[in-house]
Amino acid sequence: MPIYEYQATGEGCEYCQNGFEIIQNMSDKPLTECPKCQAPVKKLLSSFHACVIETPDEVIETERKISDHEKDGSWGHAAELADKAGLEDRARENYKKSGYNM
Ligand SMILES: [Zn+2]
Repeated sequence: MPIYEYQATGEGCEYCQNGFEIIQNMSDKPLTECPKCQAPVKKLLSSFHACVIETPDEVIETERKISDHEKDGSWGHAAELADKAGLEDRARENYKKSGYNM
């Protein structure tokens, strides 16, 4: 299932202010509000294809985010990020944990 990114259009909570990712069916309606604080949110273009990770800083930042997702048990998110960062083994491991069969 595709992962969509949303971000608060104005004031939001910690969760939506800096953007969040959510797995939705293609047929699901786009979110219009934050699931946590109900602040209005807008859909961002998926960074999955657009984002190329080039600098070491970005890799470190991405690895930090992956670890955060792993800590939360958000294996799908961790896998997508690892995939994006070219960390294939880590992606595969997390996909496995998320119940997704490669
Ligand atoms: Zn929020």
